[in-house]
Amino acid sequence: MKTLRLATLLFLVSLTIAVAQPRVLIVTAHPDDESGCASTVYKITHELGGTVDLAVITNGEAGYKYSTFASEVYGVDLTNEAVGRRELPAIRKKELMAGGKWVGIKNYFFFDQTDTHYTLDCDTVLRSVWDVAWVKQRLTKILQQGGYDFVFTMLPTDSTHGHHKAAGIIALQTVSELPAGTRLPVVLGMGGGRVDGPRYTELPKYSITRVDSDAKIYVFDRLQKFGFKNALDYRTPANWLIAEHKSQGVMQTYINMGDKETFYYFAMNGASRNEEVAVLFDALARPRKQ
Ligand SMILES: [Zn+2]
Repeated sequence: MKTLRLATLLFLVSLTIAVAQPRVLIVTAHPDDESGCASTVYKITHELGGTVDLAVITNGEAGYKYSTFASEVYGVDLTNEAVGRRELPAIRKKELMAGGKWVGIKNYFFFDQTDTHYTLDCDTVLRSVWDVAWVKQRLTKILQQGGYDFVFTMLPTDSTHGHHKAAGIIALQTVSELPAGTRLPVVLGMGGGRVDGPRYTELPKYSITRVDSDAKIYVFDRLQKFGFKNALDYRTPANWLIAEHKSQGVMQTYINMGDKETFYYFAMNGASRNEEVAVLFDALARPRKQ
């Protein structure tokens, strides 16, 4: 009985420590996808004492079509495909890190896979566009060394970019295949502001992407108020991050868009890990010290 009590106590202590200073790895497809969890990341790094790292699978060079304003900023015609594909990998890395600074992202892992073009098809991406074996091998090492509590990745909905789907699938598969003895992070799918409409359950053919129909959707409210006259909220750091992605013209129109950041709990985590996520999101909902 005593041993059981001690084990429970140790578990609760470890849970408290984990949530007091959560360690998070974000796994995305493109530089700018991290905007979907920007406010959550800000609060984790600035108010919970946590650490957030980012793994980005592609260079994001297919975003050249949206670089009209940025062509003036960088002095080259980035909307020209040849120029854009040549210049954007370096530009977008710099923009990503400039944005990440506002929300406290610490380490960046670039996987430099090709950003071919927009597609809904993730099968081809996984089969023949990206070097998936190498990506998974490197991601495994990063997870082993990082000792993460949580992985935030893309929610692989039917309608999202095939690269987003592929990034989510790779993250889920890599975590599920981690060698024994590695700290097993809880994997959550970033669903943008999705709370209404048909509920995401899984991507056909990829059972690892399943979210139980009654699984809790964890929500970070960007509109939590604080500061002088309670006039401030958590959209600001997200806006600052977005503003740094100057080469992505469409991304700039997302300023102040979306009041919520949603996180879906994948069934592969096993129901028992919900408790850790609940503790994290309770902490994230606590009022900021003014
Ligand atoms: Zn993207």
